[in-house]
Amino acid sequence: MPDSLHQFIDGRWVASRATRTLTIVDPYHEVPLGRVTAGDAQDVDAAVAAARRALPDWRDRPGDERGAWLDRLADDLAGRRGALMPLIARNGGKPLAEAAFDIDDAVACYRYYAVQARELDARQGASVTLDNDAVRARCYRDPVGVAALITPWNFPLVTSAWKLAPALAAGCTVVFKPSEVAPLPEQAIAEIAAAIELPRGVLNLINGDADGVGIPLSRHPGIDKLSFTGSNPAGEAVMRAAAEGTRNVSLELGGKSPILVLDDADPERAAERVMNGLFFNAGQVCSATSRLLVHQAIAEPLYAALTRRIDALVLGDPLDPATTQGPQVNRRQRERIAAYLAVARDEGLTALRDARHRDLPEHGYFIAPTLYRDVPTHSRLWREEIFGPVLCARQVADDAEAVALANDSDFGLAASVVGGDPERAARVARRLEAGNVWVNTDQIAPPQAAWGGVKRSGIGRELGPWGLAAYQEVKHLMATG
Ligand code: NAD
Repeated sequence: MPDSLHQFIDGRWVASRATRTLTIVDPYHEVPLGRVTAGDAQDVDAAVAAARRALPDWRDRPGDERGAWLDRLADDLAGRRGALMPLIARNGGKPLAEAAFDIDDAVACYRYYAVQARELDARQGASVTLDNDAVRARCYRDPVGVAALITPWNFPLVTSAWKLAPALAAGCTVVFKPSEVAPLPEQAIAEIAAAIELPRGVLNLINGDADGVGIPLSRHPGIDKLSFTGSNPAGEAVMRAAAEGTRNVSLELGGKSPILVLDDADPERAAERVMNGLFFNAGQVCSATSRLLVHQAIAEPLYAALTRRIDALVLGDPLDPATTQGPQVNRRQRERIAAYLAVARDEGLTALRDARHRDLPEHGYFIAPTLYRDVPTHSRLWREEIFGPVLCARQVADDAEAVALANDSDFGLAASVVGGDPERAARVARRLEAGNVWVNTDQIAPPQAAWGGVKRSGIGRELGPWGLAAYQEVKHLMATG
């Protein structure tokens, strides 16, 4: 059983003074998989102090050097792929192919920001054109300072890479708090920092839950920047904490994203997109397109194509290469989703597929892949993030109705459009209120492009130059001559 009863502070694994531990559970076998320390405010103090000590040196190193460290981190992470894949699959319940995606995308992200770090110095001091010859203005980008990075469990290496890589590239030092639900994969990041001898204190990792670590970390006055990915209630608490001391905050929160299937779409191809948009990672994806809006002309063939594909999903051991849907991450998540299914029964929703249509594996926190049709827009299942393999569908008469219903949501993280005419589909896409919109493609998030939500789905952007800017302050320097 892997244990991490230590915290990674100031370049070393140190014993926490906290005596409580958190048991990490394998959601397929429903047995303990490992333990981590339930850190406390003293651990947070020590980690923030280490990050503050490391800041002046790290900030002042040439971007080239920081880029080289990020490349070393990426190389070492890629080298651990074989060992990390089964660990991610066991801890999070993901099928192996999805675990591979978590590692490969994280490696790509570290490599992308290695290049960004190298290019940073050449862009420093860029002239600003003024209509006043008496003075000259230049722009510099300084790191914000010490950053607290708080992440969820659903893509452990990717969500952390999206924060760690740009923060370190920008010259920030960090205190990273992985989720207490599935933190075993992220321990590798601290192991790598130690193995490549990243300067002490630049990257600190504290294990623990929200009460022990998340809340003291977000309130700590030694933190200059808070970057949070997770649920809305927690994100709002982090934002309130950031208000103390007027600190910089970025939030990546929940979603209830729509997928629009236009009447010129091929139903079979559209069904592929709908499946990939919702059933990946057993629906535990922030950008999952969980609201299907299909033109009434092709609704029936699309539902038929979807039910065939849902029946073909293989629920089972995440380590079995044949498995296409693993268990939910823990008992709590399964119960949360089951509560929504009970609401659906109370509301009399029509299930084209649900638990009545298949036998679940004998153990594991499984939820049967579920498809409801004709879901009213006032239903809680239509409006709230379920974070499970539950697809809600309804028919629309035309593009205008599809857009209006798609935008009728508190959230705005992502959206998809599937249609035969790419120009018409792109026109529809432009009218959607979401940070990430895919047209006739699957949910992909390359490191060069932006990621983030509008409305209640968050504040700010990760990835691309925007992700780097989130860890930078712009300094405007004006001088005569
Ligand atoms: P969560 O909010 O329960 O926990 C996320 C992290 O925040 C954990 O590390 C947790 O310990 C910590 N935390 C919780 N309360 C806190 C508080 N008050 N102060 C400080 N830290 C606190 O979320 P989760 O269940 O781990 O993840 C699922 C949620 O994350 C979903 O809503 C999903 O949509 C969202 N998510 C969003 C994105 C995105 O890019 N927008 C990506 C992945 C997940």
